[in-house]
Amino acid sequence: MPLLYHMNKNYDIKPNDESTNKKVVLLTFDDGPKEAKTINSIFDTLEKHNAKAIFFVNGYRIKEHPELLKLIQERGGIIGNHSWDHIVLKDKPYAAVKKQIEDVQRIVKEVTGETPVFFRPPHGAGGDVGKKVAAENGLLYMTWSNGSLDWTMGEKEAGKTGKIIKNVTDQLHSGSNILMHELPWTTEALDTLLTTLEGKGYGFVDPRSIELKVR
Ligand SMILES: [Zn+2]
Repeated sequence: MPLLYHMNKNYDIKPNDESTNKKVVLLTFDDGPKEAKTINSIFDTLEKHNAKAIFFVNGYRIKEHPELLKLIQERGGIIGNHSWDHIVLKDKPYAAVKKQIEDVQRIVKEVTGETPVFFRPPHGAGGDVGKKVAAENGLLYMTWSNGSLDWTMGEKEAGKTGKIIKNVTDQLHSGSNILMHELPWTTEALDTLLTTLEGKGYGFVDPRSIELKVR
């Protein structure tokens, strides 16, 4: 796949030249893999919109359900590293951070045969140590530039689809790196969200077309 895009220091996705569409967003889903039902629903919607996404996964969940990681791979998801335990990494010693990141590289490789190239620190807090270990493993380190705030919502809260769409569209800009989670209400909102983004003229960037170097 040609490398048409790169990520800038604000974690936005930018085209490499003027002939490439700049009005795009990157879709990401964090904290899985949790449930086949949710994962399949996300992919049904992504396929409908011809969209690809990064799934930032945690090692402890892969260990519990390696078959769900396989499912993400089989359905065409791009697997990213989100650390083993989903802990704040920035204040941890180098050796601990190295283990948190490299154990995930190893288990993803064991289960899927592929090694992640994208890394997102839990809570967006990797610090210099997280950046260093990511770089040592050839991982592109990113937080996000557009938060859906789906993680702040409760199960019984009303109107979550509308809130997710408002949160994303309020922050919407070319190259938005959109943070979502593998949550039932996000899954439910996804079709409307993607239709809304398309209606505003945005396309969905294929993560495999992003260079692995910030510039
Ligand atoms: Zn997370």
